Amino acid sequence: MASEPLKLDPEVEDQWKRVRGRLRAELGEAAFKTWLRPLSLDGVSGKEVVMRVPSANMKDWVMSRCGERLHDLWRGENDGITGIAIKVGKTERRAPRREVTPVRRDLDLIRHDGNALNAASEAAQLTASLDPRFTFDNFVVGKTNEFAHAAAQRVAGSDSVTFNPLFLYGGVGLGKTHLMHAIAWYIHAKKPGRRVLYMSAEKFMYKFIRALRYKDTMSFKDQFRAVDVLMIDDIQFIAGKDSTQEEFFHTFNALVDQNRQVVISGDRSPSDLDGMEERLRSRLGWGLVADIHPADYELRLGILETKASQFPDVIVPQRVMEFLAHKISSNVRELEGALNRVLAHAQLVGQPVTLDSTQELLRDLLRAQDRRVTIEEIQKRVAEHFNIRMADMVSARKQRAIARPRQIAMYLAKRLTSRSLPEIGRKFGGRDHTTVMHGVRKVEELMAGDPTFAEDVELLERMLES
Ligand code: ADP
Ligand code: MG
Repeated sequence: MASEPLKLDPEVEDQWKRVRGRLRAELGEAAFKTWLRPLSLDGVSGKEVVMRVPSANMKDWVMSRCGERLHDLWRGENDGITGIAIKVGKTERRAPRREVTPVRRDLDLIRHDGNALNAASEAAQLTASLDPRFTFDNFVVGKTNEFAHAAAQRVAGSDSVTFNPLFLYGGVGLGKTHLMHAIAWYIHAKKPGRRVLYMSAEKFMYKFIRALRYKDTMSFKDQFRAVDVLMIDDIQFIAGKDSTQEEFFHTFNALVDQNRQVVISGDRSPSDLDGMEERLRSRLGWGLVADIHPADYELRLGILETKASQFPDVIVPQRVMEFLAHKISSNVRELEGALNRVLAHAQLVGQPVTLDSTQELLRDLLRAQDRRVTIEEIQKRVAEHFNIRMADMVSARKQRAIARPRQIAMYLAKRLTSRSLPEIGRKFGGRDHTTVMHGVRKVEELMAGDPTFAEDVELLERMLES
């Protein structure tokens, strides 16, 4: 073990917070409380990060269950770290804060020179950005997602590029991110030589802006252009962000020209991506466009059965599974959340799962599913709140005292219902979807700049939800 003194600087503490946060999300609250809460950070010694637990038992558990993951997550946060150590017992000393050596939090995933160390570091950074549960093995295939799944497998498994880009789209919580991570895990395992870069569009933008600020756009461009497979998640995020779109368009073209695979996800089809430049929209639709529909009853049941079978010590009766599959139809994330609650509860109280106990446990969630608010209800509530006539929700009047509440109602309709922008537009006196989009953006903007306004809108939202 290195004999250098321990160093603990605020940046490393922040990194530790993120590592813990990730593990917490991945392991679930129960395991986190028992095993990971007691894990603390001592500091960095040389290239090793030193953590500490109160007992040898805990050390064994942590090392065997998530040692590797911990290592990858640390590498992903800080590429100055090459190893982790866990000590047992009380910490003897904490290094004074002034002893800070700069530890780079290098967000850049792909480096230019690609030597062995960098390759290892890239791989660690890739896996750190991936959720270990999101593999093909854990993805349940049904009618509503089989096409997207097949396309994802094709991209992962084939060495030549047959369609570019692969564009996956669908509503929230339907498995887009899961499929993208699955592609990355697959390539990581089967073809370690291929360079894969997965990133949210938000992070892409953040990195781009940072590169602009530090006048470092050359290396920004180089990083992206050196990959074999580029995956950008939630592309709708860069709608309306013109310079980021421009940069993305160039990156995209450069990769496609070199026959590198690009995979994109979005919450709607390329042609419906409002706020995107026309040439980019059309370019995104050139490859294979695969949509994921909301899971049907059979798929929902299949997903529940698969997930429940991963917890063999809890028996969930078939009736309860059917009940959940029937009642929770909004998206897979909510379905999963409901099942997790049932499983966690059963483990904690040690009582058999029954239909009654499930209904009791999920009362709030089930009520929310039963009662989906309608656009009319939103309009009515907002009109009352601002003391305007319901008729003005659909009228052409443009005075701010009327137009603003109308925009707030549009914003709430977008947030609280599953209606598309054109559908919302129709309910507001046949307005165009771009008008709705403008209204939604305007409200978001005002909320960001004016806390009182934001509070008002949030209050309305809570009232409509309850
Ligand atoms: P999206 O990116 O489309 O919003 P995610 O990929 O994050 O959705 O999926 C939400 C949750 O639902 C994740 O935990 C994911 O593992 C799970 N999930 C979605 N579809 C499936 C599926 N077909 N089989 C298993 N799990 C799924
Ligand atoms: Mg996602």
